[in-house]
Amino acid sequence: MKVLTLNAGSSSLKYQLIDLTENTVLVKGLCERVGLTDSVHRFDRGYGELKVTAPMKDHHEALSLVLEMLTDVERGPIASLEDIDAIGHRIVSGGEYFSESVCIDDDVLEKINLCSELAPLHNPPALHVIYACRELMPDIPEIAVFDTAFFQTLPPRAYIYPLPYEYYTDYQIRKYGAHGTSHRYIARHAARMLGADVRDLRLITCHLGNGASIAAVDHGVAVDTTMGLTPLDGLMMGTRCGTIDPAVVTTIQTRLGYTPEQMNEIMNKKSGLLGVSGISSDLRIVEEAAVAGNERAILALELYAYFIKRYIGQYFAVMGGAAAIVFTAGVGENSEYMRSACLAGLEPMGIVLDARKNRLRTGERIISEDRSRVKIMVIPTNEELMIARDVETILDRQRQAALLAASAEEEIEETLV
Ligand code: ADP
Repeated sequence: MKVLTLNAGSSSLKYQLIDLTENTVLVKGLCERVGLTDSVHRFDRGYGELKVTAPMKDHHEALSLVLEMLTDVERGPIASLEDIDAIGHRIVSGGEYFSESVCIDDDVLEKINLCSELAPLHNPPALHVIYACRELMPDIPEIAVFDTAFFQTLPPRAYIYPLPYEYYTDYQIRKYGAHGTSHRYIARHAARMLGADVRDLRLITCHLGNGASIAAVDHGVAVDTTMGLTPLDGLMMGTRCGTIDPAVVTTIQTRLGYTPEQMNEIMNKKSGLLGVSGISSDLRIVEEAAVAGNERAILALELYAYFIKRYIGQYFAVMGGAAAIVFTAGVGENSEYMRSACLAGLEPMGIVLDARKNRLRTGERIISEDRSRVKIMVIPTNEELMIARDVETILDRQRQAALLAASAEEEIEETLV
């Protein structure tokens, strides 16, 4: 079965064509600067990246270019669009409407649109891409996979903010979380690596990329996560501040006369590693500066690790322990220093990192000492594969339901005869 995964950003369109039967990625690519000048389409069939400069005035044009490439006689991995069995769309916000992936129909489209306020940079372009798919590939089923769905199991004590309750009921102000597809993927994968069922484990999953979040996954069910109404909350990130005293916001606005938009820009784009170090949002560069003795870089790294450690402690308490702590994404998969810094001193909690294993570079791996009660794991995330698997599951379910309905009809007919 071949699934095309599509992930629309405000000016980008990422995609992969995955052959689930063969377990291979046939091609992956990215359209950048969609709607801007100098748009670029990069794609890779596994023989090195190719880059094509082409105008893309909107996401419809970007998708058309992608489909042309997919079926290109020389460069494309498939002969015709009919070779695509289904399409999986990554949708950033499904609000409270969706607790799992769904087949897209008009009602789903309307709800995704209603959630646009919660993800103004992502839901509108994703809708645009869905409409373009309907036009260009009308017979191919489309499935929506929501970043927020995994966190719809959070109990009210984890998602309600202690504000006047009307803000929740009238304006849907609550914690929604993000990165759900990644947390779901690594939780399941960790269970498989441990030879257990995810429903028998308590896991702390740490997605540490430019955006970063941690989730508490209790017996397969997410019970808390660090991102909130928006992806600004929780951990300190590349350029985002994460959790701060809310009064800091009003204090800075009042003292410096900033508008909400300016304040938003500061908290989202100028804070985090970049803000504290004054050097970069890229952890590698901050690590280099710290090694060279830059004090603000050292402070930025300490803060970054401290935020992670605090949430690991919180989620340990929330679940009454954990079988494993799992790291993923750019920082989680690659930064030996950050993994070691955020877990330092946790031996009394049964969390013992193996320094030698922590230096191993690639692939999924267990990096705790054998005596560690809590396993420490690194698992490269694969949101696209999770999306493709959801698509497969939903289509299987539909097929089975159709078969059941057909055999029920046959039975009725036989009874009548
Ligand atoms: P995104 O959220 O954009 O998908 P990624 O998951 O690619 O982000 O993570 C990007 C972050 O990972 C950057 O801060 C980068 O510095 C960090 N990173 C990537 N490789 C390494 C490495 N070898 N050592 C330390 N940090 C790394």
